[in-house]
Amino acid sequence: MSVMKFYSTNNTSSFSSLKEAVLQGLAPDNGLYMPEHIPVLPPEFFKEMSDMTFAQIAFTVAQKFTGDDVPAGDLNKIIGHTLQFDAPLVHLEDNISVLELFHGPTMAFKDFGARFMSQLLGYFAAQIKREIVILVATSGDTGSAVANGFLGVKGIRVIVLYPSGKVSDIQEKQFTTLGSNITALEVQGTFDDCQRLVKSAFLDSGLRDSYFLTSANSINIARLIPQSFYYFYAYAGRKHANRPVVFSVPSGNFGNLTAGLIAKRMGLPVKQFVAATNVNDVVPEYLKTANMIPRPSKHTLSNAMDVGNPSNFARMEDLYKKDFEAICRDIVGYAFTDAETVNAMQFVSKHYHYVLDPHGPIGYLGLKKYLSGHNGDVNGIFLETAHPAKFREVVEAAIHQPVALPPVLEKFLKGKKLSIAVSKEYDDFKKTLLQHL
Ligand SMILES: *Cc1c(COP(=O)(O)O)cnc(C)c1O
Repeated sequence: MSVMKFYSTNNTSSFSSLKEAVLQGLAPDNGLYMPEHIPVLPPEFFKEMSDMTFAQIAFTVAQKFTGDDVPAGDLNKIIGHTLQFDAPLVHLEDNISVLELFHGPTMAFKDFGARFMSQLLGYFAAQIKREIVILVATSGDTGSAVANGFLGVKGIRVIVLYPSGKVSDIQEKQFTTLGSNITALEVQGTFDDCQRLVKSAFLDSGLRDSYFLTSANSINIARLIPQSFYYFYAYAGRKHANRPVVFSVPSGNFGNLTAGLIAKRMGLPVKQFVAATNVNDVVPEYLKTANMIPRPSKHTLSNAMDVGNPSNFARMEDLYKKDFEAICRDIVGYAFTDAETVNAMQFVSKHYHYVLDPHGPIGYLGLKKYLSGHNGDVNGIFLETAHPAKFREVVEAAIHQPVALPPVLEKFLKGKKLSIAVSKEYDDFKKTLLQHL
């Protein structure tokens, strides 16, 4: 085997180990970590893949990145803890399939990244023999995936900061009812206040001297790697062995899509990716104009994709060494409005008796648009990133049918909220934090 090093997108000539990259999250120069090269899988793997389990596929992919830093037995355990749920491919039509990524504990695809990262961080925490404190600011979904991913992981404390009254009931219950090594701080302020408090804590040298602080946001390389697993798995389960594969990815911060691009670079034969967005369409615009112009995000029904300056764009550019034409060969971009989203939910519910959440329709519409302008003899796969019951009000209003609450979500709703109220002033926040560390 070998050892993989990681560089920052802001400095491609200085390298860190996997352990450093995972423990730090963001590079010290504020860049995003990237593997020094994208490993390529042997042709045999692609032949054998359809006979392999999801865990076996994931192990083969992950080991290319973890190399000698994580012995095979340990990696096997990490993968086993990560993939305690499936990612089934449901065929709606001859050339349209849904990859269901919502069978994890919080019923959204972020469970894949959060669980793998939590296991890997726990593994490295044991090596450095220090407790790691994770500070995470959330507007809803990240907090639940991260908190549930780290629940019960030894050597890790998680502090979730969220804006009081600004997350939905079900979201709040998913990270405030857990107890154990998870503490929820209900900030009397906005999401921006939560982010500011986390940033100030990271800059507080007194705090940093006493505690090993890290963040768990979506830019951690340990969240990106596991998101490539299901592209391989979906390919293995494709409907037509002899047709090319097209993936349509409903995107916000573009971590999910970037993981797909990495899978392709590892040898996965993908014909095309569709970058599908809501009206926060800076990437589809970039693909038209070659100019990336970030702007403030707009609120939409697919709110987990309301991102005006996608952080993983730096990784996408880096993968292609900023070669715009090469990027355009692999990715096409389309954007859709809330009205189109609602129409698609209605159409898919009527024609296929399949209920989508508000993010999946963007993937569906992206695929439809691709199929209308290209040869349709493909395995078209769109990613469904959350269970419809997570966005029950929006879905019920769109399809005029009740959406049943799955037992997992029902259990959260019945749990007792355990959060601690804190003010948005840093000194008050710090005092409360120290009392609970
Ligand atoms: C985070 C999220 C997305 C967007 O994924 P990115 O990797 O940020 O592009 C899409 N759908 C849901 C439900 C999400 O939670």
